[in-house]
Amino acid sequence: MSAAPARRPLVAANWKMHLLRRDAVAYCRALRDGLGSPAAEVVLFPSHPLLPAVSEALEDSRIGVGGQDLHPDPQGAHTGDVSGPQLRDAGCSWALCGHSERRRDHAESDELVGRKVEAASRHGLLPLLCVGEQREERAAGRTFEVLERQLAAGLASRPGRFALAYEPVWAIGTGETATPQIAQEAHAFLRRRLSAALGLAAAGAIRILYGGSVTPENAASLIAPPDVDGFLVGGASLDPGKFQAIIRSCGSAG
Ligand code: PEP
Repeated sequence: MSAAPARRPLVAANWKMHLLRRDAVAYCRALRDGLGSPAAEVVLFPSHPLLPAVSEALEDSRIGVGGQDLHPDPQGAHTGDVSGPQLRDAGCSWALCGHSERRRDHAESDELVGRKVEAASRHGLLPLLCVGEQREERAAGRTFEVLERQLAAGLASRPGRFALAYEPVWAIGTGETATPQIAQEAHAFLRRRLSAALGLAAAGAIRILYGGSVTPENAASLIAPPDVDGFLVGGASLDPGKFQAIIRSCGSAG
């Protein structure tokens, strides 16, 4: 299952709750100007208030924009939440679903994450579903069990198109990156599960990103394994120079 068909790498920036509008727009200009012709598709996930400004700054570029979260309902009495149609209206084509910080800070269950994936898909957004084990779960030998559970719930609605991010929670924001071997093992497991659920061809086309303390220094070795198809980058994505270096580690379009 590791003889990968040509999957275009995908590199995504998760800005989390960082940046104000002026810095975000300057970042987008720097990224547009400096990007060249990367092999990878590039997507930014800014926090919700930044979306219109970022979408405008990236208009007519090949850089995509996504929301960091969405509510499963299209509208209604859900103070502080944002809907799929609102993300579309703000220029998004992607939605992050089930990031571990949402699972932790907002007690998002696997089932709720699955409903978010379904809603994203229904509203024409590409879900980027995040899965990953906690440090204790890895230590207890439960990594694959956790990944299988999160994957099954996240894809319960069988969305048409989506991408996955393997983000071991112990590697997020800690500087403790997974080794390429650890990443490949988890990605290969996820692809086997996708293959069992969706068939070999469909599974072979799905991009599985690695996330967790990716930097310009470790990106080249992390992109090398056959089932690693790009990155979801937090901290290092806040610096456009570092983010571009990570994008370039996935190759250039020539
Ligand atoms: C993330 O937020 O998804 C992430 C991977 O963060 P970091 O790169 O900072 O570990």
